[in-house]
Amino acid sequence: YNRRLQRAEKLKIISDLAASVAHEVRNPLQVTRGFLQLLAERELSNRKYYDMAIEELDRASSIITDFLTFAKPEMDEFAVLDIADELDKIYAIMSPHASLNGVTLRFDVQDGIRIEGNASRFKQAIINFIKNGIEAMESGGEIVIRAYRQDGQAVIRIRDNGSGMDEEQIAKLGTPYFSTKTKGTGLGLMVTFRIIEAMNGTISFDSKIGKGTEVTLRFPAVHPE
Ligand code: ADP
Ligand code: MG
Repeated sequence: YNRRLQRAEKLKIISDLAASVAHEVRNPLQVTRGFLQLLAERELSNRKYYDMAIEELDRASSIITDFLTFAKPEMDEFAVLDIADELDKIYAIMSPHASLNGVTLRFDVQDGIRIEGNASRFKQAIINFIKNGIEAMESGGEIVIRAYRQDGQAVIRIRDNGSGMDEEQIAKLGTPYFSTKTKGTGLGLMVTFRIIEAMNGTISFDSKIGKGTEVTLRFPAVHPE
């Protein structure tokens, strides 16, 4: 792939999005400001307003996080990644968060599979899929992550037994701000798709309402010497 073209394309998307992100962040900030003013003027200390203000600030913060990680330039530093090593780190990061939400993470990973990419981006992408899986299982469940080599490709599958999606929803994935969650940003998959694309990978979704979702990622594997 052409790295310069990729960067130009990325800059265009970033500038298109910057305006709308600014707008999205301004909303929760203005709402929070309103609550604080209410609390100050009426000298009432209503717990509800504090909670709502904190929620709105969290929302502003997630929008900024999702967008800024996308805009960071370190994307360009590629290295050879060992999938088992990277998934080990992801397990350590995500399993406490998963168990807090009643979700078990199960990993079934072949050793020695290597791909090219940026380690922190790769981590961010896989974490986004896991987070979506956790959020799709309101009363808990299991996420199974498998990685294996097939026909010179590295295959990673992430499966949840959550709410699932219909075809219409699947078609909208990756569209900026498409979210069905009250606290969603709708930026997670947009960022994730870009990361996978930059690594020459492909993504497919297999999903059924009420049954769950399986995401399949395929990357060109680095041949063992
Ligand atoms: P967010 O998580 O902030 O809503 P994303 O871009 O990560 O934004 O996801 C967009 C939407 O795609 C979600 O709101 C949800 O409706 C749907 N979605 C993504 N992953 C899953 C999944 N594993 N199960 C069910 N729905 C999903
Ligand atoms: Mg998400």
